[in-house]
Amino acid sequence: MTDPGAAGLYIHVPFCASKCPYCDFFSIAAAGMTDAWCAAVCRELDLYRGSFPRFKTVYFGGGTPSLLSERQLGLLMERVRTSVSVVGDAECTIEVNPDDMSLEKARVLRSLGFNRLSIGVQSFDDGVLGFLQRRHTARQSLEAVEHAAAAGFENVSLDLMYGLPRQDWQADLAQALRLQPAHLSCYQLTIKPGTVFFRMQQENSLSPESEDTLEQLFLFADSFLGGAGYQHYEVSNYARDAACEARHNSRYWRHLPYLGLGPAAHSFDGHKRWWNVDSVQGYCRLLEDGAFPLADEETLSVEQLRLERLMLGLRTSRGAALADVGSDERTLAQLEREGLITVRSGRVVPTIRGMLVADRLPLLLEGHENAPA
Ligand code: SF4
Repeated sequence: MTDPGAAGLYIHVPFCASKCPYCDFFSIAAAGMTDAWCAAVCRELDLYRGSFPRFKTVYFGGGTPSLLSERQLGLLMERVRTSVSVVGDAECTIEVNPDDMSLEKARVLRSLGFNRLSIGVQSFDDGVLGFLQRRHTARQSLEAVEHAAAAGFENVSLDLMYGLPRQDWQADLAQALRLQPAHLSCYQLTIKPGTVFFRMQQENSLSPESEDTLEQLFLFADSFLGGAGYQHYEVSNYARDAACEARHNSRYWRHLPYLGLGPAAHSFDGHKRWWNVDSVQGYCRLLEDGAFPLADEETLSVEQLRLERLMLGLRTSRGAALADVGSDERTLAQLEREGLITVRSGRVVPTIRGMLVADRLPLLLEGHENAPA
C-alpha cells in the first residue's frame, strides 16, 4: 500500500578519486571541497524542513560516497535525523567502492545507521577492471563483501557491468552468486557523449559489442540468475526475494516522491520536478546566501505524469496500470502475440523480451512504432 505522505531522500556526493572513462554522472575529482559541500547539504536539508512529512528511504549516491570521512558521514546522518523525519525502519543505503571498504569503514558505516550497501564491483576480472580504469581489484571486491558481512550488513547489493571487451560474463555472474548478495544490479556498458570511451569510439579505438551480443548477454543474466532463484524485477535489477528489492530505487520506478540534495540532484513531489545546479562551487555559494540551489523546475501535466508512470512501470516486473496505457485492445493483443507483454489483473506487464526493448515499449503501446521483428 502506498503511503501518500512518504518520500525518499537522496544525497548526491559529487566526488570521485578519479573519473572513469565511461561515466557521465556528475562528479569531480577534486576532493578539497568536501567540507564545504557537507555544510551546504546541511543547509539545503534545513531549507526543506517540514516540506516532506516523512522519509522512508535514505540513499547516499554519487560520485563516491565512501570517499567521505567518518566525521563527514556522521555529520550528515545526524543532520538527516534531526532536520527531517525518517521512519524507524527506513532503508538507508550508501554506495561504496571496494577499495574504500576496510573492515573498520564497514563498521563505521553500520554504526552510523546505514543498513544497506551498494558495492561497485563491476567485474571480478582484473583485466576488465583495468580496461574500465577502476581503482580496485577483484580481491578487494571479495574482501569488501566479507567486511560488509562481518560488520553486520545483511542487505548488500553488487553492481556489475556487461558488454565489456574480453569479459567472461558467466564467470562474473557465477562469482557474484557465490557471494549470495541480497541484490544485484547488472548494467550494460553504454557509451555516452562527453566520456573518454565516446571519444575512443569516434577514433575507432573502441568498438562496442553488437546489439545481438548485448541481447544475448541480457537474456543470459535473466536465465542464469533466475535459475539461482533471483527475481528479475527491473530491467537492470535482481533481488534474492521480494523483501530484497531496492526500496529507494523502487520509489523512482513507482513514480513516488523523492527529495534530492546536492549538486545536480533531482527531486519530485508527485506533480513537480526540480533539479539543482551542476556545479559544486555554485551549489555551495547559493546555499551560503540562503537560496535554494535550483537550476530549473517543471510542473508536469496530467498527460506527462501518465506517460512517465507508463515508461517507468514498463521497466519493472510489476508493469504499468492498464489505465495508464493509451493503446486500444487490438494493439495490446498484437503486442501480446509478439511476446512483448502480458495483460493481467489490470496491469500491462513486460515479458523478458519486452524488458529488452523497455525504452521502446511505451512507443509501441502508444502506437508510435512498429514492433521489432
Ligand atoms: S567511481 Fe562511479 S561515479 Fe565516480 S567516475 Fe567512476 S563510475 Fe563515475
